[in-house]
Amino acid sequence: MDELEAAYKDCVPAVQEALKNLATGIRWPMYDRDPIENWVAGRMVLMGDAAHPMLQYLAQGACQALEDAAALQDVSNGTVFTADGVHPEAWDAAIKEFNTNRAGRTARVQRTARVWGESWHVSGLARTLRNLLFKSRKDNDFQYNDWLYGQDGDGVPAVRAAHSGLADKVPA
Ligand SMILES: Cc1cc2nc3c(=O)[nH]c(=O)nc-3n(C[C@H](O)[C@H](O)[C@H](O)COP(=O)(O)OP(=O)(O)OC[C@H]3O[C@@H](n4cnc5c(N)ncnc54)[C@H](O)[C@@H]3O)c2cc1C
Repeated sequence: MDELEAAYKDCVPAVQEALKNLATGIRWPMYDRDPIENWVAGRMVLMGDAAHPMLQYLAQGACQALEDAAALQDVSNGTVFTADGVHPEAWDAAIKEFNTNRAGRTARVQRTARVWGESWHVSGLARTLRNLLFKSRKDNDFQYNDWLYGQDGDGVPAVRAAHSGLADKVPA
């Protein structure tokens, strides 16, 4: 709380007044982990935060967990789950393919979230350069984040399930 008040002490009264509305009773520690390559142990596979916990700066934790779910669907539809039933013998290959397809992308998000957070908190010359870079970008310039939000990057799940006829039954 002291740190918060110190950071905002020179702000206009309206901002200082607004600070009183913040719920300061909850402390959210922020942790991530270094990326790991292997998410598979036997027939178990990690996904979401368990596989790739990341800092919040890109707001991607839940997004990547959802992408995981879509990617696992991509590799299991038509292999583990087919129109004629469930094929458990295909599961081992499916989770390995899922792991291979996804680990590179989520590692990049984990690492980028760290760097992004660092860029928010720099001071001095680094801060000046950061601000110049941000100001120089046009609204339609996605060169730094197209790999994250674009549809064609490595490990991005298909917009529609790839393998099976199930996708054809989903309304467009
Ligand atoms: C304050 C805050 C803001 C966030 N904002 C964003 C955002 O803007 N955008 C974004 O993409 N992400 C955001 N995230 C991150 C996002 O919430 C997580 O990345 C996401 O919830 C991870 O999903 P998950 O399913 O992997 O794990 P979780 O959502 O943590 O789900 C794991 C579940 O397993 C349960 N569980 C644990 N142990 C056991 C057990 N032994 N047996 C049974 N159940 C168990 C837990 O109770 C929990 O329900 C935010 C997170 C926080 C804390």
